[in-house]
Amino acid sequence: MTTRVAVVGAAGRMGSVTCEAVEQATDLDLVARVDSGDPLDAVLDAGADVAVEFTTPDSVRGNTEWLLQRGVHVVVGATGMSDDDLAELAARTGPANCLVAPNFAVGAVLLMQLASKAAAVLPDVEIIEAHHPGKADAPSGTARRTARLVGETRPYRPDPPGPAGEPSRGREIEGVPVHAVRLPGVVASQEVVFGAEGQTLSLRHDAIDRTAFMPGVLLAVRRIDGLSGLTVGLDPLLV
Ligand code: NAD
Repeated sequence: MTTRVAVVGAAGRMGSVTCEAVEQATDLDLVARVDSGDPLDAVLDAGADVAVEFTTPDSVRGNTEWLLQRGVHVVVGATGMSDDDLAELAARTGPANCLVAPNFAVGAVLLMQLASKAAAVLPDVEIIEAHHPGKADAPSGTARRTARLVGETRPYRPDPPGPAGEPSRGREIEGVPVHAVRLPGVVASQEVVFGAEGQTLSLRHDAIDRTAFMPGVLLAVRRIDGLSGLTVGLDPLLV
């Protein structure tokens, strides 16, 4: 049986690669491509089982709520949603499910898991993320989630060395300084650097092509029917 898939944000960088990946999958059927100005009704008219949301921080929450309320499962790749937004989405799930992942690249998911583990032993940490100049949000959703995970596992929150409040020292998220680089030629990279007496540990992931995200996106599309309510992160699908 094939799963009918709609892509919202289909003309964008991620949306267009997602359309290609869905078209190439023999168990998936791309039934709708929706972008700015198109009615979301097209997703319903096409009978989509699952929508993949790759729009913008401004649009993602509204689109996702609208689809969930109409019974369409949503795999959300667009970043920029707050904890309040996620709580609102959780309330809109059932019978349709929602999976929100700030990063669908399996290597980046592993990087987040390893960073969380390392922070339990090495609490002094900073994050450097780099993306293309067209990225709408900064710092990235992946950096925010990594900082959150680090904040949950480190035994205490060290005071970052000063000068406090100096913009070049990065934006503090959960007490972790995060530095955002925007340069042509970059797709998506993240380095998490831990420091301790006489040593440093660097964990780094580079997505050098947007196809890096597709195995994770397709995994989420295939598995979302079996999930329940709201799932944040790809991790539960990788175990
Ligand atoms: P993009 O600007 O290239 O594409 C966004 C597309 O969404 C555009 O075509 C735009 O016209 C369309 N759009 C905007 N508002 C819309 C609306 N209301 N309805 C329908 N379409 C609308 O951006 P991108 O580089 O493709 O990134 C999209 C999102 O995905 C960003 O939030 C980015 O941070 C995120 N992203 C996530 C991952 C991940 O693994 N989760 C990876 C890369 C990028």
